[in-house]
Amino acid sequence: MEKEQPKVIIHEELCKACGLCIIHCPKDILATSDKINELGYPATVAAKEGCIGCANCYLICPEPGAITVIKP
Ligand code: SF4
Ligand code: SF4
Repeated sequence: MEKEQPKVIIHEELCKACGLCIIHCPKDILATSDKINELGYPATVAAKEGCIGCANCYLICPEPGAITVIKP
């Protein structure tokens, strides 16, 4: 069986689009979406595979609960 990879989940409804997670991701995984969320912001999304589970995004995000990083 293939080893499970780390994964980032952005809870788009809580994102205020400050962009800090995008800047601090070493793998360039995160990007601004073209959808506006319930709070009125163009929420961040995980735009590609390759998350290494470093948790930079989780640690820098000022919005509680907006980012979950899963490390198998
Ligand atoms: S955990 Fe690290 S590699 Fe994964 S999305 Fe967040 S900052 Fe990028
Ligand atoms: S750091 Fe948090 S609030 Fe800021 S863009 Fe990323 S997910 Fe959204």
